[in-house]
Amino acid sequence: MKSAVIIGASMGGLLAARALSGVFQQVTVVERDRLPEEARARRGVPQSRQAHALLARGSMALDELFPGFTAQMIRAGVPKGDLQADCQWYLDGHPMRQAVSALPVYGVTRPLLEHLARERVRALPNVTITDSGDVTGLLHDGGRVRGVRTGSGTIEAELVVDAGGRASRLPIWLDELGYGEVPVSTVRTDVVYTTRHYRYEPGRIGFAVVNAPYPGLPRTGVTIRQEGDRVVLFLGGILGEEPPTDDAGVMAFAESLPGPEIRDFLRTAEPLDDPVRMRYPSSVRRHYERMPRLPEGLVAVGDAMCSFSPIYGQGITVAALQALALARTGGTGRWFTAAARLVDAPWTMATATDLRFPQVQGARRVLDRPLNAYLERYRAAAAHDPDLGAAFLRVSNMLAGPGHLLAPGRLLRVLLSPGRAGREPVRRRPPVAGRRG
Ligand SMILES: Cc1cc2nc3c(=O)[nH]c(=O)nc-3n(C[C@H](O)[C@H](O)[C@H](O)COP(=O)(O)OP(=O)(O)OC[C@H]3O[C@@H](n4cnc5c(N)ncnc54)[C@H](O)[C@@H]3O)c2cc1C
Repeated sequence: MKSAVIIGASMGGLLAARALSGVFQQVTVVERDRLPEEARARRGVPQSRQAHALLARGSMALDELFPGFTAQMIRAGVPKGDLQADCQWYLDGHPMRQAVSALPVYGVTRPLLEHLARERVRALPNVTITDSGDVTGLLHDGGRVRGVRTGSGTIEAELVVDAGGRASRLPIWLDELGYGEVPVSTVRTDVVYTTRHYRYEPGRIGFAVVNAPYPGLPRTGVTIRQEGDRVVLFLGGILGEEPPTDDAGVMAFAESLPGPEIRDFLRTAEPLDDPVRMRYPSSVRRHYERMPRLPEGLVAVGDAMCSFSPIYGQGITVAALQALALARTGGTGRWFTAAARLVDAPWTMATATDLRFPQVQGARRVLDRPLNAYLERYRAAAAHDPDLGAAFLRVSNMLAGPGHLLAPGRLLRVLLSPGRAGREPVRRRPPVAGRRG
C-alpha cells in the first residue's frame, strides 16, 4: 500500500496531509502534542498565542487545498476586509494612500485557522492524525527513507515529510546517517513580540493598522480585527527594542509609532487578556537543496525548511504553496530544488528588508543597497499614489514577484516623486521606552 507519514500536525503538516491525500492511499500524521478538539493554542506551537496575519496568496492557496475554506472562516465569524481600503499602512513612517485594491484580508486567530484546517484533514477518509506521539528518528536503508521511528514503535512509509517546524531534528538525523551537515543561512534580527486582545467596538478602529518597522524606528505596532469581536494588538521590537507589557509602557510605545490610530484606540480599549511575549532571535533557512546527497523518499516543508521572520507573515503562505507543489508532484523528483524555489522570493524580500538595518548581521548582496534606496523612495511615493500602494501589497502578499515594483510606469513615477526629502516620515517620539541595555 502506498503510504506517506508526516512529522507534525501544525499548519505545515496539515496542508501537506491534504496535498498527499490525493496521491497516497494512506497518509499518517504524527504529532507530539495532544491535539485539542476546539480552537485552542498549544505547547508544540508556542507562536499560536501570538497574532498571525494570513497573506492574500495564503488565503487563496487555502481555498485551493480546501475548497470553500475562506467561506468557512467567515461562517466561523472571521471578518474580511480590503487590504488597502480597510487597512491603514505606515511604510517607513509614511501613511499609504487608501484605495480599493480587491485584495482580501482576513482577521483570523492562529488557533482558529489551525482548528479549521485540522477539521478538514480529519474528515479525509485516508488520513489518520495520531497525537501524543514523538517521532524519534528515521527508518533508513539502501539510500532510502523507509518510515519513522516513534516512541511506541515504527511506521513504514514510501514518503516521509518533515513538518516538525523550526526545531526539526531532521538535520541531526541526516548527519547521523552519514549525509553530512545541512547548510544553513541565518539572519539575526532579535524580534520580541507581544500580543494582547481587546474588545472590538465598531467605529473605534479600522480593520487593521500596520506600522512597519524601519531604520530609525525599529518598532512595529499592528492591530487587526478578529473573530469573536476582538481586536488583536501586536507590538514588536527588533534589535534590542522590547515592547513593554505594562499599560503605561504599552501606551508610551504606541505613542512612539507613526500612526495615531493605535494610541487613540488604547485610550478607551477594554483588554480581554494579558499580553503574551515571545522572542524570535533569527530567520533560519536550511538549504537541503545544496546537499550533495540525500536519501530518497524524504521531503521537508514549512518552518522545518525555512523559518521566516514573523514581521512579514510569510510562513503559512509558503507552507501552503509547498503543499500545492506536493499535490502536483507527490514529493518526487527534485523536491528540495522545487521547494527552495518557492522560498527564494519571500526569503530574499524579507532578509533584504531586514538588512536595511545596519546592525543586522547577514550576507549583504551587491544589489541590496540600490534596491533599498529605490524602495525607500517608493514607500514615500505610495503615500499619494494608490497604485504604488496596491503593487506593494501584491508583492508583500506574494501575489506578484518583486519585479512588479520595478515595472516601467511605476519606476518612472517613483523616480519623479519628491522622495524622502519631499515627505518626511511621521515621527512621534524617539524610540526610548522599553529599550534593552
Ligand atoms: C511569533 C511568530 C509569529 C508568526 N506570525 C506569522 C504570521 O503572521 N503569518 C504567517 O503566515 N506565519 C507566521 N509565523 C510562522 C507560522 O507560525 C509557521 O510558518 C506555521 O506554523 C507553519 O509552521 P510548521 O507547521 O512548519 O511548523 P510549526 O508550526 O512549528 O509546527 C511544528 C509541529 O510539529 C510538531 N513536532 C515537532 N517535532 C515533532 C516530532 N519529532 N514528532 C512529532 N511531532 C513533532 C510540533 O509539536 C508542532 O505541532 C509566525 C511565527 C512566529 C514564531
